[in-house]
Amino acid sequence: MKTQGQVLVINCGSSSVKFAIIIAETGTTIAEGIAERLFSSAAVFKPALGQHNEQKRQLQGNAAHSEAMQAIVQFIREQGLGDKLVAVGHRVVHGGEAFAESVRIDEAVLAAIAAHSHLAPLHNPANLKGIEAAMEAFPELPHIAVFDTAFHQSMPEQAFLYALPYELYSQHGIRRYGFHGSSHRYVSAEAAKILGKPLEDCNVISVHLGNGCSLCAVKNGKSVDTSMGLTPLEGLVMGTRCGDLDPSLSLHLEQQLGYSAQQVNDLYNKDSGLLGLSGISNDCRSLEKAAGEGNRRAQLALEIFCYRLAKYIAGYMVATHPLDALVLTGGIGENSTYIRETLLGLLLPLGYEVDPAANSQYRFGAAGSISTKDSRKVLVIPTNEEWVIAADAARLAQG
Ligand code: ADP
Repeated sequence: MKTQGQVLVINCGSSSVKFAIIIAETGTTIAEGIAERLFSSAAVFKPALGQHNEQKRQLQGNAAHSEAMQAIVQFIREQGLGDKLVAVGHRVVHGGEAFAESVRIDEAVLAAIAAHSHLAPLHNPANLKGIEAAMEAFPELPHIAVFDTAFHQSMPEQAFLYALPYELYSQHGIRRYGFHGSSHRYVSAEAAKILGKPLEDCNVISVHLGNGCSLCAVKNGKSVDTSMGLTPLEGLVMGTRCGDLDPSLSLHLEQQLGYSAQQVNDLYNKDSGLLGLSGISNDCRSLEKAAGEGNRRAQLALEIFCYRLAKYIAGYMVATHPLDALVLTGGIGENSTYIRETLLGLLLPLGYEVDPAANSQYRFGAAGSISTKDSRKVLVIPTNEEWVIAADAARLAQG
């Protein structure tokens, strides 16, 4: 299969558009940038060539996705990069049950992405805007959609069904879908290479800890369980999201405390997690600093973060037995020696032990094992979702 060429990768959020030009074979980034604070007077475009030369270009006030895309196209043309592109790869958050893998975008695919907007109201409409603007800008190129949910379509019913009346699933699609699929797929494939085993013989627990956090039980190379659910709110404690709760709490907040449905939604998604617990920040680095200075609520936030995660990992050892490795990724997983040491301390009864020297060594982009030789294996592997998107796009563009 030919995966050659340079691919424009687009990741379109509700108020930002990120882009990268990636060499599909190697994952090398040639250019990247972000147009952010769209729909405000501070709208700005920051492109960069490789890791260097970041520029700042003001966008017109209230610039929308289409203006952001025009700025991206102009930058690409100025740099003479447009002619070398073989495809445009788009990150799409929700593909529901319609997409178990990446797909070349046509009218039917656009309609299917729109049809899943009710499951990801903040993301899918923004993703569609990005696709439409990019198709207008690059009509001659194939456009490929890569879904966050696709990797988890291999989950069995016992993992994806909620214990609700079955009709809610069969008639309304209410089930666990899972997200961060490109990241879990990438790091589990990288883990197989490090372990020296074919991916289809590998059982790993992939843990993505960024602003959003999720873990995935990967058995024989396929997702068999994951912690995010119908939406990316379920599961672990995250930067601003609460993760698992008693579902009755929503009713309590509305009926006893007078919250509106929108306020409940904002509370769970924007004001909770590390930020809500600490009252300081959603950023792990800031909390580690405050905890080190003796701030009790920062310490508590990090303790709860690690405890919830350890319990999930213990549970996922059931789904992945016999486990080859625990894999840590995302900004926190790749860098935080503190979280990794605390986590593995909690997992000591299950046979995990951190190697302090290796824990200090494997940070800032370095991949390797941070467990002792007698411990169950723990790997740190930097994720690369853009490369997954670029490689899929280049491969499907040939078809
Ligand atoms: P996103 O989900 O937005 O892509 P990232 O994967 O970049 O986020 O992860 C962001 C998180 O990683 C933040 O909580 C940040 O504090 C944390 N992080 C980044 N570098 C470090 C570090 N050196 N030590 C501890 N935490 C870090």
